[in-house]
Amino acid sequence: MDTPTAPSLLWAPLLLAPTDAYGIDVLEDAVVAIADGRIAGVRTGVRSAPRGATRLDGCALLPGLVNAHAHVELAPWSGIIDGLALPEWLGRLVEVRAAASAGGVDITSGAAEAGAMECIAGGITTVLDASYSDAVPAALHAAGVRGRSYREVFAASLGPGVRSIDEAEAAPRTLPPGIDDGLSPHAPYTAGPDDYTRVATGGGRWMTHLAESPAELGFLADGSGPLSRSFGGGERPRWPAGSAPVTMLEGLLDERALLVHGVHLDVDQVEALAATGAGLVLCPRSNARLGCGLPPWRLLREAGVPLALGTDSPASAGPLDMFAEMRLLLHGVRALEQDAAAISAGEALWLATRGGALAGGYPDRGLLAEGAAADLCAIRLDAGAPAVESLVLAAHPHQVQLVLVAGEHAWDARVARSLERLAHARARSARLARELQRLASGASRAGNRGPNPLQTGAGRV
Ligand SMILES: [Zn+2]
Repeated sequence: MDTPTAPSLLWAPLLLAPTDAYGIDVLEDAVVAIADGRIAGVRTGVRSAPRGATRLDGCALLPGLVNAHAHVELAPWSGIIDGLALPEWLGRLVEVRAAASAGGVDITSGAAEAGAMECIAGGITTVLDASYSDAVPAALHAAGVRGRSYREVFAASLGPGVRSIDEAEAAPRTLPPGIDDGLSPHAPYTAGPDDYTRVATGGGRWMTHLAESPAELGFLADGSGPLSRSFGGGERPRWPAGSAPVTMLEGLLDERALLVHGVHLDVDQVEALAATGAGLVLCPRSNARLGCGLPPWRLLREAGVPLALGTDSPASAGPLDMFAEMRLLLHGVRALEQDAAAISAGEALWLATRGGALAGGYPDRGLLAEGAAADLCAIRLDAGAPAVESLVLAAHPHQVQLVLVAGEHAWDARVARSLERLAHARARSARLARELQRLASGASRAGNRGPNPLQTGAGRV
């Protein structure tokens, strides 16, 4: 079996079907019919697989996972920089990228390919990616992943080499099928009020990091703290004194906006956010590793903010692994709330499927229902344990057996070609990781004495 045709009929002993209210229906002995890239019908209680159906013995079938915030091109960076708070971590990341650029080392195209392959092999069928290079859309498409590529843009004050909105608009992209366009003002400490206004009033979907760290709050409140210092020689954007993360964007937020992190939102800011319709992507592994805290889950959930889940960057969170992300969200929220019932496994899985699809503007994804996109993931689970809990508390990407995107085979663990492509991408990623480690050692010795690292293509954040 090497080039399977797309199945028109699947049979699985378990179906995990997200509802529209943070729930997961667990259904047994299910047949899913597929036609023209969509789910043509779902029947349950079918004890034996119909003739011609693809059997998924030992597996649960669920919608493909939605990684609602990632930086796929940073796939080889897991573990390269550690033990630094966000401002210093970001500075080191920029230094290493600048060193790569100065040395003529391409750290993007192979990395994007590796990241995209990790996504599809881990059951992720939709990615909302923020990137600075143009390697990501093609890499996602080649791996079979769909989604949106948000180009990161920065305040022009940071330096003439930084990609500003003007530069992005002057260089429109031709994107491959299945990849939509978006813009991402990086964060309030690298993009200013005018940048946010231009992006938000441009009519397209956009994404931004917001309320991630205590340093960001200090910067917004009175311009103080480590994020107020010049960044590689450029000037930080300026916000009115007393700015708060959500209310400072008043009039700009609606369902086209996707905020990322929201760790440091108080009850007033959460309520202000809920009134806008904008979505919020939680990235708890990155928040935990950088010592930023954890998002106020209970406040956000009760206020009705549209929530999703994302891995963020491998440089700050580790592998592009949505199972690990669900698990840390569950563990972190329960620890923070000192309440073992503060969040359920089903809520975490809902965020990683239906929540991401809705927040990202893909209402026909993240569902197992007639008419929905046939973006599906089959994962082998331990027999006997409750399925949702087994998946969220214990599963790993290597348990993913089959992934369909728009009804087409995108990944099949039984197929040699799938495994060979992943092995090739991982080998390339490992070579890049060794190179990054070498550069990181050199950049550490050199310090940050060079020209503005943002003034090089590889130096952008
Ligand atoms: Zn990010």
